[in-house]
Amino acid sequence: MEIFNVGNNGVNLYLLKSATHNLLLDSGFPGTLHDLGRALRKTNTKISEIDFLVVTHFHPDHAGLVQELKNKSVTFVILDFQVPFIAKMEHQKKRLLESRNYKPLIQTDNRCITLPQSRRFLEELGIHGEIISTKSHSEDGLALVLDSGEAFIGDLLLENMALELKDPKSLQDWEKLKSLGAKSIFPSHSN
Ligand SMILES: [Zn+2]
Repeated sequence: MEIFNVGNNGVNLYLLKSATHNLLLDSGFPGTLHDLGRALRKTNTKISEIDFLVVTHFHPDHAGLVQELKNKSVTFVILDFQVPFIAKMEHQKKRLLESRNYKPLIQTDNRCITLPQSRRFLEELGIHGEIISTKSHSEDGLALVLDSGEAFIGDLLLENMALELKDPKSLQDWEKLKSLGAKSIFPSHSN
């Protein structure tokens, strides 16, 4: 398994390359397809070779490019608890884009899974780990934790900040992450 940061415009996007599949975590802002394509070049991956996309939460910097990627034949995998959060993000996306460039996120062709199904889904891709819900940054938040200890945490407060601020919701999320063995942390907005 290889992990690449193919981020752009201040957002880290992580490409997980197993022996058989490419999984992209977070999509980036709406209208940034070219930036993603450029960042992917260093990994010798084309956008059309991304098999699956999962987003850590429905904010425009993370989920703004979902439909554009689906149009390039990427399968979007959504957790069932994230579905109610699409509408608000679409509203923000529309405001960020000229309306002629706005492509609504089509909701009938996504692959919807539940948290207990996440391990089996990842196994299908040759990735060993699971997805958990993390609610401290946003109610639709998730983190992906690999059995080897890498944790992709989206916009959660880093642990030292959570401890310093004694933020109970963040600390709860960190407890969950730790119990799954999270050691190497991959955040969305710093290095
Ligand atoms: Zn963000």
